[in-house]
Amino acid sequence: MRPDWEIAVIGAGLGGLVAAALLERRGYRVRVYEQAPAFERLGAGINLSPNTMKVLRAAGVEEQLLQIGLRPEYWISRKFDTGETMFRYDMRDACEAAFGACYMVIHRGDFHEILTGNVAPGTIEFGRRLIGLEQRGAGVSLEFEDGGRAEADIVIGADGIDSMVREALLGPELPVYSGYVGHRCIIPAEKLGDLAPADVSKWWSDDAHRDTHMVVYYLDRNHDEIYFVTGVPEPEWDYGFSHVDADYDELRAAFADFHPEIHTLIDISSGATKWPLFDREPLPVWSDGRLVLIGDACHPMKPHMGQGAAMAIEDAAILVRSLEHCGEDHAAAFALYEESRKGRCEAVQQGSRDNRWLRNPMDPGWVFSYDAMTVPLGG
Ligand SMILES: Cc1cc2nc3c(=O)[nH]c(=O)nc-3n(C[C@H](O)[C@H](O)[C@H](O)COP(=O)(O)OP(=O)(O)OC[C@H]3O[C@@H](n4cnc5c(N)ncnc54)[C@H](O)[C@@H]3O)c2cc1C
Repeated sequence: MRPDWEIAVIGAGLGGLVAAALLERRGYRVRVYEQAPAFERLGAGINLSPNTMKVLRAAGVEEQLLQIGLRPEYWISRKFDTGETMFRYDMRDACEAAFGACYMVIHRGDFHEILTGNVAPGTIEFGRRLIGLEQRGAGVSLEFEDGGRAEADIVIGADGIDSMVREALLGPELPVYSGYVGHRCIIPAEKLGDLAPADVSKWWSDDAHRDTHMVVYYLDRNHDEIYFVTGVPEPEWDYGFSHVDADYDELRAAFADFHPEIHTLIDISSGATKWPLFDREPLPVWSDGRLVLIGDACHPMKPHMGQGAAMAIEDAAILVRSLEHCGEDHAAAFALYEESRKGRCEAVQQGSRDNRWLRNPMDPGWVFSYDAMTVPLGG
C-alpha cells in the first residue's frame, strides 16, 4: 500500500521538478521548496538525449517539448582549426529508431518553464531557502531562511552543486573546481549572415590547446536562436558557485587558433557569461535515514557529455520507482535506488571528465538506450 507520506523536495531545478511530477502522478503528496524568489530564465541551452526524453515522456512533457525544441538532424564533430569533420552522427532518424525517443536541443529556460508548469498549482514554494534540517524518529523538521518551518516524512535533496541536504548527510565539503570554465551565449540567428552552422557541432582542439572546445547548437525548431557553450582551462576560480560576465578579450584569446567560423560566432555575440565547472568524488552514501540525494547534489559532473541534467532526471525516475516498489520501507527504497544508480552515474561522471564523447566514431548506445522507467531495479 502507498504510504501517506508528505514528501519534501528541496530545489525546483531539473531533477527536483521531474521527481515532483512523477511522484504526483503516482498519488504521493509532494511539496517543492525553492530558494529563488521566482523562476529565472537562464541564458543557456541544454541537450536532452533519448534516455532523458523517455523519462520526460513519463512525466507528461514530451509533447510540449516537441512543440518548441529542435530534433537536430546531425551531430558533427569538427577539428578546431580546419573544420574537418571527425564524426557525423545521425541524431534524428537513426537515433530515434534505435533508442525509442528523440534527441533534443532546447533553451534551458523553455525547458524549465515547461517543467515548472507540469506540477500541480501550489506544489512549488518559491523564496524558501532551506537553512537547517533535523531528523526526528518519525519525520524531518525543515527550517527556512524566511523563518518558516515545515515537517516532512521524506526529504529529497535536489538542491544542486552546493547542496544543503548533502551537507546535512555528510558534513561540509565543497565540490572540486575542475580548472575549467564554460562560456555560454545565445545569439539571434538573424545575426549569422552567411554562416550556416550545423544543427549541433562540437569543435575539438588538440593537446596543445588543453581540451579547449566549443559546442554550437540551435535552441528551437525554427532555428531562431543559436547558442555556444565552451570548455576553457582557467586554473583559479574566485567567485564561488556564481557565474560572471565573460571578458571578450580573454574569450577571443582562448579561441584565437580556431576556425574563422568560431571567430565570427564570438564577434557577433554579446553578453556571454562564464561559469565554473565543478566535479566531486563519488559520495560514500546517497541517503541517511529519511534524507536522500539526487542529481548534482549527489554526483556533479563536467558538462562534456551533456548528461548532468540527464542523470538528475534518471535519478528522479529510479527513486520514485524504488519508493513505489518498497511501500512503507523508505530505507529499502533508498538502498535500492542507490544500488540501481551508482555504477551508471560514476561511469558518466568519468566519461564527462575524459571529454571524448562523440568526438570520433563511436556507439552511444550505453547512454542513450537506458530507459529509467523500465530498467530492472537493483545493481
Ligand atoms: C556550462 C554547463 C552546461 C551544461 N549543459 C548540459 C547539457 O547540455 N545537458 C545536461 O544534461 N546537463 C548540462 N549541464 C549540467 C546540468 O545543468 C546540471 O547537471 C543539472 O542542472 C543538475 O540538475 P539538479 O536538479 O541536480 O540541480 P539544479 O538544476 O542546479 O537545481 C538545484 C535547485 O536547487 C535550488 N537550491 C539550492 N540550494 C537550495 C536551498 N538551500 N534551499 C532551497 N533550494 C535550493 C537551486 O536554486 C536550484 O533551483 C550543464 C552544466 C553547465 C555548468
